[in-house]
Amino acid sequence: MKIFKHVLLGLMFISAGAFAQDSEENEKPQGHTNQNKFKQLYDEFATPNMFRTGSGAPGPAYYQQQADYKMDIEIDDDKARLYGYETITYTNNSPDPLNYLWVQLDQNMRARDSKTPLINSSGIGPANTSDRVANSYLKERFDGGFNIEEVSDTDKKPLPHMINRTMMRVELPKTLKTGEKFVFNIKWWYNINDHVKDGGRSGYEYFEENDNRIYVMAQFYPRMAVYNDVEGWQNSQFWGRDEFALPFGNFDVNITVPADHILDGTGYLTNRKEVFTKEMMKRYEKAKKTYDEPVLIVTQAEAEKAEKSKSKDKKTWKLSAQMVRDFGFATSRKFIWDMMAVKLDTKDVMAVSMYSKEGNPLWGDWSTKVVASTLKSYSRMTFDYPYHKAISAHAPMGMEYPMICYNFGRPNKDGTYSDRTKFGMMGVIIHEVGHNWFPMIVNSDERQWTWMDEGLNTFVQYVAEQDFGEWYPAALSEGQTKYPSRRGPAKNIVRYMGGNQDYIAPIMTKGLNTYQFGSNAYSKPATGLNILRETIMGRDLFDYSFKEYANRWKFKHPTPEDFFRTMEDASAVDLDWFWRGWFYTTDYTDIGIKEVKKFAVTETPTEEGKKLAERYKQFGLDTSKMVYFVEEGQEGYDEAMKNADLSELKTVKEFVMDNFTPEQQKEMKSPKYFYQVTYEKPGGLVMPIIVEYTYADGTKKRETFPAQIWRLNDKQATRAIASTKEIVSITVDPDLETADVDTTNNSWPKEVKESEFDSFKNKIKD
Ligand SMILES: [Zn+2]
Repeated sequence: MKIFKHVLLGLMFISAGAFAQDSEENEKPQGHTNQNKFKQLYDEFATPNMFRTGSGAPGPAYYQQQADYKMDIEIDDDKARLYGYETITYTNNSPDPLNYLWVQLDQNMRARDSKTPLINSSGIGPANTSDRVANSYLKERFDGGFNIEEVSDTDKKPLPHMINRTMMRVELPKTLKTGEKFVFNIKWWYNINDHVKDGGRSGYEYFEENDNRIYVMAQFYPRMAVYNDVEGWQNSQFWGRDEFALPFGNFDVNITVPADHILDGTGYLTNRKEVFTKEMMKRYEKAKKTYDEPVLIVTQAEAEKAEKSKSKDKKTWKLSAQMVRDFGFATSRKFIWDMMAVKLDTKDVMAVSMYSKEGNPLWGDWSTKVVASTLKSYSRMTFDYPYHKAISAHAPMGMEYPMICYNFGRPNKDGTYSDRTKFGMMGVIIHEVGHNWFPMIVNSDERQWTWMDEGLNTFVQYVAEQDFGEWYPAALSEGQTKYPSRRGPAKNIVRYMGGNQDYIAPIMTKGLNTYQFGSNAYSKPATGLNILRETIMGRDLFDYSFKEYANRWKFKHPTPEDFFRTMEDASAVDLDWFWRGWFYTTDYTDIGIKEVKKFAVTETPTEEGKKLAERYKQFGLDTSKMVYFVEEGQEGYDEAMKNADLSELKTVKEFVMDNFTPEQQKEMKSPKYFYQVTYEKPGGLVMPIIVEYTYADGTKKRETFPAQIWRLNDKQATRAIASTKEIVSITVDPDLETADVDTTNNSWPKEVKESEFDSFKNKIKD
């Protein structure tokens, strides 16, 4: 019965050749073990449970721990030293009794005895700069580790504790049961690092002129580790690369700095009237109602005046933050400070920038506008920004904390800057402000899964960059019509994915252990999501599902499975094949056209046609009603092409067309040109085949075959085409949207040379 149905269909649509291909080659079985690329990810995924459901949502027993901090911090600007005292209130919301707590001492990565420098290979080359040689062989390593002076309970009684490099285990006097709180104190100090010389996400930049520093501070306090249903304690050591896993909590932080410093950080400034002048208050009130241009709270003239002297007095800035996973602040007497209100759907928030004169004019012109634009884009893609402000502070690197981030991009001394500097600065601000969502609010485990924050964030960054270019065309350079995004478009990942496999790791790898970190954890996942959005799912399905993920997990701790499952759960698109290929392997896309055969229809059978008709006869088919296909090059082809269209063949007319009314007949197609296209897939990834046909009259048509076309044969797929117009060329992936690493096999006929072809394709894409 099955074959009979095929034959009838074949009469109208499929050539006998394609039919033979179907049964013999394309449905080749793939062995005993199920290595099918469409196999569901049950073996790779954790089993759903009461904490995390099969839908990708938090389950009924989902819990998370809470860590609240009260801190007194002081910066000694002369010694570049930070002193701190904190009281942590830790709440055990887990069903498990706890006998100890783990506290993260990230600064110990900078301790003299840190093992971080010892995990990398080193060698001696024939030449090196004297600075580097001196750093390696002359100097003692800078001592930037935590000096823990007290770990005590509420009665100031010392608590037993043990420091294992960047992790400290604090013994609990008695088991901490479900729902119970434990309060304890830590006193510490450390030498702040010069992060221009020594690197780091936190530290100071030193300015010789007037002997000043800009401090952008982070990881400056002992922080609670995460305890959850997935890892137990996430106490994997900090080696310097993989970022942080932190529980949510409330912070009350008093920060004492020289009286002439300007300071801002995570949280509400609760003593604004004490630390602001009357003039600053007036400007601040104005900024709250100004939506188009930033309002200067501290002007460049005021900042330049401040940096020429040094106050001996101190001032304490009080910040209070609810439901944040971390705390950062920036302080300096060099800071210019501006703010602008931003209208989101449900509320107004403040976009803020802090920068020294070295950042101008770029920073004064653009930083706060970039922050504002980013807040709007990310809010649209996920949920409205839940905090009241977002600060961009000028620093030598890019790094993110709740409500505040540190961003690079400095003009030349004469105020000029290149496109590279400008878009580098705008891109990093969009990226770091974007981290407020991933991972500050959608709080994934950065220590384990770099891509969950960097990849997701870099994806939304691409969307936000394109928005920014559209909303602020003045930010673009001459001749540009859109923001020149570096990461996101599929064609930009081709060089990485098609590169040396020895230096490529799957995305699902801990950051520390990957090669080409930026491509692995930022570009590839971001590009994958972009391909899902633009090519595989479409914007409606993708955006709905992505938003669902963000909303399900805001102020919670998601895992990779929670993301993968939610994207399917909300869209009804089976994506296991995509996650499997793009996230779990290092396979690449390479799809091409292997062969195109042309056919004409005829009533006169070829030798093969006769043989097949004989076979059909054995199944009881009436072979007097056959249509025959003759291939180009075979005897009878030219003659057949001279003849009429399919509907005008005698057999079709008599046995098919005559069954329809003249009106119905007019509606029917009448193809004359028949093609059998064989697509090949040298690449390991499965992807949809996007095809563009160009007809003799110059018109074009697009057709997309879902990735499932590869489900039974991973190497090649054949398709029959019946056309009323002659097809003169066929192109696979004409807009370069699948990250195909080799486009030399993407066109038929293969008439255009590779280099010309590529440059032409790149041109039309731009
Ligand atoms: Zn990032």
